[in-house]
Amino acid sequence: MTILPILTYEDPLVHSECEPFDFDRPQIDIHTFAQDLCDTMYHHGGVGLAAPQVGVLLCIFVMRLDRHSHATVCINPEITRQSGTFSMEPEGCLSFPDGFRPHVKAPTKMIARFQGRDGTWHDPEFRGIQARCYSHELDHLDGRTLLDRASPEAIEIAKERAA
Ligand SMILES: [Zn+2]
Repeated sequence: MTILPILTYEDPLVHSECEPFDFDRPQIDIHTFAQDLCDTMYHHGGVGLAAPQVGVLLCIFVMRLDRHSHATVCINPEITRQSGTFSMEPEGCLSFPDGFRPHVKAPTKMIARFQGRDGTWHDPEFRGIQARCYSHELDHLDGRTLLDRASPEAIEIAKERAA
């Protein structure tokens, strides 16, 4: 079991865009990396972790429904359809200090599309917290963090509460 070091929001890699994972010419050993990413997320008690947070600029993340369930590995993920309804909830992130949880707008329902570690495509429907988590991790792959997703006001309030 390998626990990878998690980069903080201060690291430029966390703000970089990722490239697709190529199943025909793999840039990394996907089975080892996916396992390491899961182990690192479990170790820190997170519900999601994206490759750029451990310094790997590839379109890969892991997420789980709650702290007790198994992780889903999402490779080359996208959203094919999303509801026009959004919710505003506090979100945390393993690349930020524990108490920093700004309110962020996220779709309440979506059809996701991603590859599993064997390359098979999946297109599940995600709602509520799952849809929120998927959006959060997907944004990481575009180099977008809570600082880009929350309003300046929400960031200020969250900073005060975290202090
Ligand atoms: Zn995050």
